[in-house]
Amino acid sequence: MKLFEVMEKDDYEQVVFCQDKASGLKAIIAIHDTTLGPALGGTRMWNYASEEEALTDVLRLARGMTYKNAAAGLALGGGKTVIIGDSKTAKNEAMFRAFGHYVQGLSGRYITAEDVGTCVEDMEIVSEHTQYVAGLGKSRGSSGDPSPATAYGVYVGMKAAAREAFGSDSLSGLTVAVQGVGHVGYYLCKHLHQEGARIVAADLNKEALARVEAEFGAAIVSPDAIYGAACDIYAPCALGATLNDATIPVLKAKVVSGAANNQLKEPRHGLALAERGILYAPDYVINAGGVINIANEQGGYNEERAYLQVANIRQNLEEVFRIAAVEKMLPHEAADRLAENRLANAKSLAGGKSGCLC
Ligand code: NAD
Repeated sequence: MKLFEVMEKDDYEQVVFCQDKASGLKAIIAIHDTTLGPALGGTRMWNYASEEEALTDVLRLARGMTYKNAAAGLALGGGKTVIIGDSKTAKNEAMFRAFGHYVQGLSGRYITAEDVGTCVEDMEIVSEHTQYVAGLGKSRGSSGDPSPATAYGVYVGMKAAAREAFGSDSLSGLTVAVQGVGHVGYYLCKHLHQEGARIVAADLNKEALARVEAEFGAAIVSPDAIYGAACDIYAPCALGATLNDATIPVLKAKVVSGAANNQLKEPRHGLALAERGILYAPDYVINAGGVINIANEQGGYNEERAYLQVANIRQNLEEVFRIAAVEKMLPHEAADRLAENRLANAKSLAGGKSGCLC
């Protein structure tokens, strides 16, 4: 890979390779853009088949965080870390201590947090060596589990999508098919039930299903049947890439709005949804509640203030739908435009990049 060519193409600022022989740490920190503020993005630990695969992934994820944070209206840029290794067998304490030193060395240009393969306990170790880590336990005055905030953001975003598609933001009497009733899906079902929506749910986990059946009267269907379930709204809250050639033709929903990351298998599936008259609420706009919640740790976490900001996801989605209508774009393209507009405005105001908390 010609690294500088790749960095130049999507305008990455910095890539840091972190190696510590004693602990076995092999990590890559990618900072995509700090125009709006320090780059915030979690640390993923994954057993990559090659260093090139790890590099490709961290670059993709860091850029994704720039767009997500910008579309959310946060004063934060985009970054990400990957640690190469199997999180079940290759983790050790010294590795996270060494990683903490590397994060501290960036002097606040990058703020880390947990992600796939890392957990709050790992970040507690990192925090002994750097203040630039977010999402620690609530006992540390931190924001805690992001899932309830993510679910609340999906709920308010779903209301914006319902208004766009059905002319009313009330979800009462509508049927929502929720795929995955884990951390986010469960709290989403709670909001839906409170508003009087009917819930159809699928999950691989029988206990999780039994809980939403008992608490919210959810009708249970098999994992394969969720796509074709009779409903108004499909809420993917489990896996990525569930909007694809096999599923889009069978969807009965008129709206897709859920928490999962990377819902469109390929960008062309955004067009396939539109051709079937299905409104898509872009994933990284509607599922930003967790990152908005974590961002509120800057200057001291306050839950009430954080949730008021999460509620802005509704306005962000309305803006996405407005751009899509005016510019004759698909919603996922309009989401990118929203993020790019915010970046361009900040660049023209600041005359350059910032990215330091101090
Ligand atoms: P989770 O692991 O707690 O829940 C996912 C649920 O989906 C589990 O109960 C699992 O059994 C179920 N599942 C897996 N495969 C399935 C299948 N084929 N059919 C039906 N159900 C299936 O995860 P989560 O934290 O609730 O996150 C859900 C999604 O939202 C993920 O894609 C995640 O990346 C995304 N997301 C989460 C957050 C957050 O704050 N947790 C923030 C942004 C995005």
